[in-house]
Amino acid sequence: MHVRAPGKVNLFLEVGRVLPDGYHALATAFQAVSLCEDIWATPAEGFSVSVRGPVDVSGVPRDDRNLAVRAARLLAAKTGYAGGVHLEIHKAVPVAGGMGGGSADAAAALVACDALWDTHLTSAQLHALAARLGADVPFALRGGTAVGTGRGDELSSALARGRFDWVFVTASEGLSTPEVYGALDRHRERHRFDIEPSAAGPRVEPDVLHALRAGDPAALAAALRNDLQVAALALRPDLADVLVSGERAGALAGIVSGSGPTLAFLCADEAAAADVAGSLAADGFDAHVAYGAVPGARVVTG
Ligand code: ATP
Repeated sequence: MHVRAPGKVNLFLEVGRVLPDGYHALATAFQAVSLCEDIWATPAEGFSVSVRGPVDVSGVPRDDRNLAVRAARLLAAKTGYAGGVHLEIHKAVPVAGGMGGGSADAAAALVACDALWDTHLTSAQLHALAARLGADVPFALRGGTAVGTGRGDELSSALARGRFDWVFVTASEGLSTPEVYGALDRHRERHRFDIEPSAAGPRVEPDVLHALRAGDPAALAAALRNDLQVAALALRPDLADVLVSGERAGALAGIVSGSGPTLAFLCADEAAAADVAGSLAADGFDAHVAYGAVPGARVVTG
């Protein structure tokens, strides 16, 4: 069973106050992009995983901490399936890059095992399992373009017309998501009076939704926002120069993707993205073109 699931970019991410469960209240707009994870699931007695791919996969756990294995085990426990599975992951999404690669693996494993084991869960049941695995896993199941609230896992569709062309610049060393949130909390503590989270709670700005509906990359570029960017840049000051380089190379706008350190550059069209990627690659950066929106986790071949 071969399943593909997309990485994501946050077009907008407002981080609100810390909730009683320790998570931050979020309002985000996600887009699924064509940097994808492929998973092959084959019947096995126990649970095992192998990982390969063009990105550095050395930081990916090969045991029960792997999110794809956790997803498979959760589905087996939920449905009473007594067997196991071997999962072979081909990663194209950078590890700990802020593009939700582990979440995509978890979503792909849910869909692959559900098909392989004939457990036939409804999409609502899969969504509920996905939310238990991580805040970004439901979006990797669903794909497309969506608004996420709560911890980012309460999804509603966002209408998006046309395609959006991106260049992603990956870094050799990842950033830990909890560390980036910690840096944001410290930054807000120091600059409390300027950047205290809004008391009304976070919400996605209407400009983002209008730009998506119009299929207008220039308007979307003007509306991009990521509250985690200030924290990611505090931990990795060198990224600020790369943002400037991408915009000088012709990108409409550059932004830190999720918790970083991957940078996302929105471009006017496919040709502009190829130019920007070429120019960044010539400067020695690891640049990849991609487009959105693409579908969520889906069976490629059964
Ligand atoms: P997000 O944007 O969802 O916070 P991310 O893209 O920054 O995530 P991931 O690549 O999803 O980061 O992985 C974060 C950490 O999760 C890794 O450093 C690794 O230790 C662990 N992990 C567990 N399973 C996986 C997996 N299948 N792929 C990648 N990382 C995994």
